[in-house]
Amino acid sequence: MGAEASTEADEEAEYERLTRERTKKRRQRKLKEKQQSVGVPVAAVPAAPASTAPSIRAAVPTSTRPKAKMAQKQKIVLNEGNVKRRVLRVLVTGGCGFLGSHLIDRLMNDGCDVICVDNLFSGQKCNIQKWMRHPRFEYIRHDVTEPLFVEVDQIYHLACPASPVFYQNNPIKTIKTSVLGTLNMLGLAKRCKARILLTSTSEVYGDPEVHPQVEEYWGNVNPIGIRSCYDEGKRIAETLMFEYHRQNNVDIRVARIFNTYGPRMLENDGRVVSNFIIQALDGKNLTVYGDGSQTRSFCFVDDQIEGLTSLMNRGHIGPINIGNPHEYTILQLAQAVMKLANPDGKVEHRPLPSDDPKKRKPDITKARTLLGWEPKVGLEEGLKHTVQYFKDFRAIHEEPI
Ligand code: NAD
Ligand code: UDP
Repeated sequence: MGAEASTEADEEAEYERLTRERTKKRRQRKLKEKQQSVGVPVAAVPAAPASTAPSIRAAVPTSTRPKAKMAQKQKIVLNEGNVKRRVLRVLVTGGCGFLGSHLIDRLMNDGCDVICVDNLFSGQKCNIQKWMRHPRFEYIRHDVTEPLFVEVDQIYHLACPASPVFYQNNPIKTIKTSVLGTLNMLGLAKRCKARILLTSTSEVYGDPEVHPQVEEYWGNVNPIGIRSCYDEGKRIAETLMFEYHRQNNVDIRVARIFNTYGPRMLENDGRVVSNFIIQALDGKNLTVYGDGSQTRSFCFVDDQIEGLTSLMNRGHIGPINIGNPHEYTILQLAQAVMKLANPDGKVEHRPLPSDDPKKRKPDITKARTLLGWEPKVGLEEGLKHTVQYFKDFRAIHEEPI
């Protein structure tokens, strides 16, 4: 106990000492700059201790003094070890959604100050409920197609419906969200000098003619099909990211996410993993679109969040594929789900929606080499967690009130 207390006191003292030293150095630096700006030879004034600063300050005519800048306020908090430190302020757009809420859990557990922005189009407040009263957390109900004024250091820009059922529900809104939403967030990043990460998608490759998909591949997208509101929206969002980077020096990161699944997907989400699990738990036939030979590569949400945070905090701007390179046909996925949730289940074929990509598998060489990242959770293990989540979710929601 005594040793712990003295360590805390030592850390406190060390922190104070470092702060004093930094303040002193900053004052000396500013002083030098002022002297140079009014033509005072630097050598004429000794590197003065902080206490002599006022007299030299007085020697500089007020009119030639640079306007006092507003001191950049750094929020200092005490963490569990009672050590003072600078807190990273992070904005997550689309934070009430499936990926956004997992990302918020990660950022909150890492000690960040988090602002979640969401218009609840395809997300739900219950996904972030546990943080609502936390002093480092703030939720703003806001549509990213409108400008936003907050002060942040990093922006994870996820806001956009990701399931075909949702993004095709209001395609014009989907385009506005990708285009205007990304413009607004880039404007915010530019003003705050914040780093911004866009969650782009494997859909930028369309129905790919290169397999597996490498980042250099430009894609095969139908610009007027029923998926293009999403695909082309994300492609222009990527263009905006790179133009703001080239023209305005905005610090960007672009992740191309491949099909990701896990707890907190909506029951009525419409994406294949949640559809199959819900159908299996209900003892219904699994709806396989087309003959089920089309492929996807499924990434578990924990791996995805690790990939996104690695990209945000490393020096590579992307675009970088973040996904699991193990490829399955949709029929194989149906069998894997039935094995876990309804071994006597059957599949039922339905028409294949137009422009449904025939195959999809990421080449993750870049993520492996540049981020040191690769997925760890296999399909069976990830599906087990997801099936359990839906079972628990239903058990809670079926309880009498
Ligand atoms: P999701 O639909 O669960 O989450 C999106 C969130 O954005 C929702 O909470 C929704 O309410 C919010 N939103 C939508 N439009 C908005 C607007 N105009 N203003 C404010 N909030 C808005 O989807 P997700 O799976 O969590 O996907 C998150 C991001 O990742 C999306 O940008 C998506 O394109 C991208 N992505 C996801 C996958 C995947 O497999 N999950 C694959 C590729 C890309
Ligand atoms: N799919 C299916 N049954 C469903 C839902 C989807 O067979 O109930 C198919 C869909 O046609 C596609 C694949 O599963 O080939 C993945 O669909 P999802 O909507 O999850 O994602 P995306 O097509 O955007 O990759």
